[in-house]
Amino acid sequence: MAKKFVRAIFPGSFDPITNGHLDVISRGIKLFDELIVAVGNSPIKDTLFTPKERVEMIKPLVAGIEGITVQTYDCLTVEYAASVGATAMLRGLRNFTDVQYELQLALTNRAVAGIETVFIMTSEQYGFTSSTLIREIAKLGGNVSNLIPQNIFSKLQKRLAEKNIKPEQDNCIE
Ligand code: ADP
Repeated sequence: MAKKFVRAIFPGSFDPITNGHLDVISRGIKLFDELIVAVGNSPIKDTLFTPKERVEMIKPLVAGIEGITVQTYDCLTVEYAASVGATAMLRGLRNFTDVQYELQLALTNRAVAGIETVFIMTSEQYGFTSSTLIREIAKLGGNVSNLIPQNIFSKLQKRLAEKNIKPEQDNCIE
């Protein structure tokens, strides 16, 4: 029997991409022939980086991994998956909160579009890593350089400075 070709998408905000995401990508690609890192353009999310900027930030980080491409999308995730011929969706799990949320999402996506979701458990060292927390810590001047790639850390600091968000490191007590 001929081997089936499986294209999957890894959808998310990636605002910004973290070492946790990269870990899921590098282990996830082993399960599929092709994996598209799909950067969502959700109008309800207030993001630090534009979708195009996020794609350009991710591309060099995955350039060495065969079978990976990076794109933005601007519609329902399941519609995007169908439009690129993807039959599976990759998602990462860090904790029970993720499980609860992702289970509902996966069942809904399967019911409405017949798409399967494949889950990868986080590596222990990234179990607490989230883009939201990284943005919050960085805004307060915390050092997140070991949770995101070095050039992403530089871009994050630059963007916060551009937005005039100045960390107040030496002023903890009001
Ligand atoms: P969303 O905005 O859809 O939550 P994210 O960019 O935050 O998208 O994350 C995309 C996917 O990556 C989600 O499945 C999320 O659970 C997973 N993920 C994020 N951080 C980690 C991590 N540290 N370990 C494993 N999976 C992760």
